[in-house]
Amino acid sequence: MTRDPLARIVAERGERALEELSVLRSSDPPTTGGRVLSYVYDSGVEGLDELAVRASALAYGVNGLDPTVFGSVAALHGGIVRRMRAVLAPPDDDEVFGSVTSGGTESCLLACLAAREVRARTAGDGCSIVAPVTVHAAFRKAAHVLGIRFVGVEVDPATARVSADDMLAAVDSDTCLVVCSAPSYPTGVIDPVVDVAAGLESLDRSIGLHVDACLGGLALPFWPASPGAGPVTNPWDLRVPRVTSISADLHKYGFAPKGTSVLLSRGRQRHRAAWFATTDWPGYPVVNPTLAGSKPLEPVAAAWVVMEALGDDGQRELVARTARATERLAAGLAEIDGLRLLDRDPGPLLALGSDASRPEGRRVHPHLWADACGRAGIAVQCQPGYRQTRGDIASSAHLTVTPVTEELVEEILAVAGAAADEVRGQPAPAPPAGFADVLDALDSGALSPADILALPEDDVHTMVAAVLTGDAEPGMATLLAAIERLPTDVGARLVRAYLAAVMEG
Ligand SMILES: *Cc1c(COP(=O)(O)O)cnc(C)c1O
Repeated sequence: MTRDPLARIVAERGERALEELSVLRSSDPPTTGGRVLSYVYDSGVEGLDELAVRASALAYGVNGLDPTVFGSVAALHGGIVRRMRAVLAPPDDDEVFGSVTSGGTESCLLACLAAREVRARTAGDGCSIVAPVTVHAAFRKAAHVLGIRFVGVEVDPATARVSADDMLAAVDSDTCLVVCSAPSYPTGVIDPVVDVAAGLESLDRSIGLHVDACLGGLALPFWPASPGAGPVTNPWDLRVPRVTSISADLHKYGFAPKGTSVLLSRGRQRHRAAWFATTDWPGYPVVNPTLAGSKPLEPVAAAWVVMEALGDDGQRELVARTARATERLAAGLAEIDGLRLLDRDPGPLLALGSDASRPEGRRVHPHLWADACGRAGIAVQCQPGYRQTRGDIASSAHLTVTPVTEELVEEILAVAGAAADEVRGQPAPAPPAGFADVLDALDSGALSPADILALPEDDVHTMVAAVLTGDAEPGMATLLAAIERLPTDVGARLVRAYLAAVMEG
């Protein structure tokens, strides 16, 4: 029994807050069990998450900022980097170095920073990164933050594949980094790493080639030879000598809790170019290999323990389960009249569009289908169509398949079939009624995108808040219908206002 009266009060209030938290959490979609086919990566292995929680508890309180004070920081980072090097780099390669980051976005951003530094360029001087338009938005964010231009290379609208020639044609004297995905998140397609690498051989060595394997880094190397599409035959990782860096998330197919990813770089120079160091202030000498200053060791410790617990054999088995589930789902979904499985490569992602070869009355709009699946307890992600000069990438629905999905394949296919029956033949979803005036004014030219971009934030807030409170549950299909009709800069402003309004409550 503590004598400190404050401790007693804190304990009481803490218990109440915990109860409240538990109520709040009970209204979230389930993070385990496989019914949410994006955002979460459930191994389905009993006890694995508990190991991660125990690891976090053991690491609790450590400041990952300073491995010279907390020796466990360097040891755990070293363990994770060694393991990822063994998976993604040639054997016994001692020229590959790594940083453990907080997630894929940070790994990608640091790869871009290092590329800018290695090219001896500075923010706003016109330096650029060249990537297919299907690359993860993290690279557009990195470009925005780092003062780099993002040069998006259009893809074949039918296959969403980029050609290496188009990528190479976009490279010029301003290019500091070329990026390929393995695979791309929206499409599941693996970009032509070997061909892009070959084309870069004759160009300046200081131009980097980054492979974004945030999603595939721990799935593709273990993807089984059968069934269906696998295995991955063309090399796409640091085994390709011209590849200079690669990102891979442990909090995806490493089955670790959120907050851990790795950036591997070839050579000390590129590795350290992403670090920030200064002695130019009156405080302690600062050396930050990643963006954060003070940072938690908990996610890193959890990822390390999960990694050690799974080992190569465990990882291989989980990826095999994922592959079986993916191929069974792909086969079943391909049978649904009105939907079309989009072109893909071996890997755990599926994208579905409307089957344009069917008469309109038989087509299934992927967003209406996704919303219908969601109402039946299977959460599928909506992806907007993407405008390109050479033809648009169609609207689609996205599924991220995880090991636990294997137990649910029949249930998911049943829901998917019923959802398609429910919405087959329905016209494309309309934007929320609250946006109708704005969209019409944009279409008629009464309002220009610049007019909307010039609106004060409070006016944008009012407009978007009206949509939130107006329609009963707008549904993703409705919101994406608005996004698809808006210029991307206007769309970005409105979705920012939308999320802000959600957060402000
Ligand atoms: C998830 C993902 C990212 C970004 O990672 P976060 O961990 O969400 O920051 C980048 N690239 C790809 C291909 C991804 O799947």
